[in-house]
This record gives sequence, C-alpha cells and structure tokens, in this order.
Amino acid sequence: MKKKPHRCMSCKKHLTGRVDKKFCDDYCRSAFNNKKYIIERGLIRRVNYLLLKNRRILEALLAGSTSSISIMRNALASKGFQFGFCTHTWHAADGMKYFCCYDHAYSEPQNELLIIIRLHTKATATSIPYSES
Ligand SMILES: [Zn+2]
Repeated sequence: MKKKPHRCMSCKKHLTGRVDKKFCDDYCRSAFNNKKYIIERGLIRRVNYLLLKNRRILEALLAGSTSSISIMRNALASKGFQFGFCTHTWHAADGMKYFCCYDHAYSEPQNELLIIIRLHTKATATSIPYSES
C-alpha cells in the first residue's frame, strides 16, 4: 500500500512522527487556523454586505409606495442588485415564490418583469408568538 505524502497543512514541510499529525507545531497550527478564520470572516462580511445592499435597493424602490412596484429585471440589476444573494424564499398564498432580502422581496411572475414587495415582520416571524398585550 502506497503511503500518502505527509506534509504540514500550513507550511507544507514533510512531517515526521504520527500519521495523523497535521502540523509541524503549534505555530503552524495557529497560522493555519488564523488564515482559515480570516478567509471565512471575509466571505461572511462580503455576503452580509451584498444582502444589506440588496435590501437597501429594494427598500429605496418601494419608498413612498404602500404595497408593491413592478420593475424590469435589467433595471434592478443596473442599480447594483445581486440576484444570487437572498436571505430566504417565501411562497405566498397564491403560490408565487418570492426571493427575500430580510423584510423585502421580489418575485418574477412574468419573464424579466419583477414585482417587489415589503414583507410584514409579523408574517415572517417564525417561532416567536405575537402578542397584542
Ligand atoms: Zn509547518
């Protein structure tokens, strides 16, 4: 049976000793985990930024409107909206699927024509019972 190359996950130097050893020492383990954390944190920040930006774009389009507006997909994209980033999906009673950015959402009932709505927080809350008291 051929033995797998046994290298440090941080500095890539050959390792000696136990087969399950992953790092030369605590310095390499710490350097590897710090780099991993920084990459993860950067990714999360980027996604959070895009979600908030999408929400602000939808909010600005609905400003002054009581219920909903229609907009062409390319017009929304030209405002910087990133279609790949939403917080969740929601199916309305009529079966329409909405892509949500927190408390705002859009659907595409016709090809390229979008409907933007504001969600009611009571309707989107899932586990906390609402109380009028
Ligand atoms: Zn190392």
